Amino acid sequence: MPQLIAGNWKMHCLAAEAVALAQGVAAGAQGIEAELLVCPTALHVEAVARALQGTPVAVGGQDCHQAKQGAHTGDIAGPMLRDAGATWVILGHSERRQNHGETDELVREKTLAAVAAGLTPIVCVGENADQRAGGQETEVVGWQLAGSLPKPFAGVVAYEPIWAIGTGKTATEEDVALMHAFIREELVRQFGDDGQTIRILYGGSVKAANAASLLAVPNVGGALVGGASLNAGEFLAIARAAQAG
Ligand code: PEP
Repeated sequence: MPQLIAGNWKMHCLAAEAVALAQGVAAGAQGIEAELLVCPTALHVEAVARALQGTPVAVGGQDCHQAKQGAHTGDIAGPMLRDAGATWVILGHSERRQNHGETDELVREKTLAAVAAGLTPIVCVGENADQRAGGQETEVVGWQLAGSLPKPFAGVVAYEPIWAIGTGKTATEEDVALMHAFIREELVRQFGDDGQTIRILYGGSVKAANAASLLAVPNVGGALVGGASLNAGEFLAIARAAQAG
């Protein structure tokens, strides 16, 4: 399976900037073996999807509600994202868990809703700095995996240590190798043989300069990229560093 390089644009870009960024990514996608995905703010999913039609770059949302419709002011349902052209959705990002109080249980419900809507979920897990300092990182990630992933699970997991997100600090290759091996073990424990093939992305200050070494770590199935995905050239350089399938 090719590695997946996913860009999380967070709350960045006005519409014209998002379309231009998507076009920049698509323009350089030729010959890249990795699967490419960009996740603009929900408001721009439709315009970006239209701009990317006929290209190998897919579009995803950054969150969706657990219900497929209803009285939920300000929320966006999975079928709406799908209708706008998204085929993926990021769920349980640490910024959602922190800023919106999202629990493992809620992330699990959202994951079920996303799959029902025809979206492939990318479920994020990862420990904070205190938890890592206390040696609790595998315990925390183990609980998150057990609580956030429905059975069966048709999606991707992203390991994103919170202390490495947007900080310029990257987990060492050894940290990544240990955690991804642990996640693989947990996935096999939860899902049997199916757990062997679930892609596990690394996220946390990935950039062109460190992508090749991080993407070469065993059990790393790609990268979830925040800041560096806002520059098409940098994002494409990360994608070129990805391993072929
Ligand atoms: C993210 O927010 O998913 C992320 C990995 O951000 P950054 O690459 O900026 O650390």
